[in-house]
Amino acid sequence: KPNPIRVLVTGAAGQIAYSLVFMIASGQMFGPYQPVVLHLLDIPKMQEVLNGVVMELNDGAFPLLAGTVATTDVKTAFMGIQVCLMVGAFPRGPGMQRSDLLKMNANIFKEQGAALAKYAARGVKVLVVGNPANTNAYIACLAAKADLPSTNFSALTRLDQNRAVSMIAERVGVPVAKVKNVSIWGNHSLTQVPDVTNAVIQDFPEKGLTTPVLTAVNDNKWLEESFIPQVQNRGAAVIAARKLSSAASAANAIVGHMRDWVLGTKDGETVSMAVVSDGSYNIPKGLVFSFPVQCRAGEWSIVQGLKITPFIQLKLDATTKELQSEIDALPK
Ligand code: NDP
Repeated sequence: KPNPIRVLVTGAAGQIAYSLVFMIASGQMFGPYQPVVLHLLDIPKMQEVLNGVVMELNDGAFPLLAGTVATTDVKTAFMGIQVCLMVGAFPRGPGMQRSDLLKMNANIFKEQGAALAKYAARGVKVLVVGNPANTNAYIACLAAKADLPSTNFSALTRLDQNRAVSMIAERVGVPVAKVKNVSIWGNHSLTQVPDVTNAVIQDFPEKGLTTPVLTAVNDNKWLEESFIPQVQNRGAAVIAARKLSSAASAANAIVGHMRDWVLGTKDGETVSMAVVSDGSYNIPKGLVFSFPVQCRAGEWSIVQGLKITPFIQLKLDATTKELQSEIDALPK
């Protein structure tokens, strides 16, 4: 058996974690032969809830769960971790300004970025989920800059991708597994850019082996005026229906993101990850921006040379501007 992977989940007493930790323990993130040690961090007032999560993990009797470290101490949580799932973040309360939220979270992610630099394995793969996810990842990356490469850091846009794939599959009338290479660009926010320009349907019965989604849908008005806003607003629609934000689907997206990063994407397939821009597609270097990527041997790379239509370019400009304004609003 391989050595266990040490995986930290922050915000481990919260909603998303309540789905996520059981998926990890059951082998869905790293495969059926890879044991894990789960590190679970939350704030002191959540200690009792956290104990309950550990009780349920024990009661799952998961063969792959080689241990749990449940703690409210940052050093203990970050010690030796190889995967870091940063789910915990300060939620926006009533009457709170956006700048207050950015500030509260800036402090959390600065502290946790420094803890990554100090205590985590050097190859640690970091995924930020807590909102504003891209900017929180930017802060953590900056705080760890002297010790960890920026390629270790990412933020989650996989749920947006999955939502987009599901909507296209339903519209075209094919199983979701046949919809490939739908991309999400930019910020995980209302300015995100769901893009099907380079997406295909595999084995489309009427049109041969692969058919561009644009051809299969054959309705630009629907794509521009229904599909894009529906993907952008899906989170709010789930809140309206469930009276709680999406949690199980977020956990599933986290599993997909990290599984593909660690185990690799399939040949010819792309997935969306927010990563530190290297200047690809003229996105300013250093911004944490969602791109279509491919993963091999534990490394992601941005897919180059994709067609960007003028319509999508305008949207890329807007999401870039929003990300820059979030960074400008950070406490100096
Ligand atoms: P959730 O588990 O529901 O969500 C956690 C974070 O994920 C939120 O910031 C949420 O943003 C974000 N998120 C990102 N993408 C999505 C998505 N697609 N759908 C839903 N959420 C998304 O929050 P809870 O409040 O239940 O749990 C958070 C836990 O974190 C609490 O237990 C709290 O104590 C803890 N915490 C831990 C900290 C630490 O470890 N230092 C610091 C702060 C909090 P949004 O709010 O915009 O939905």
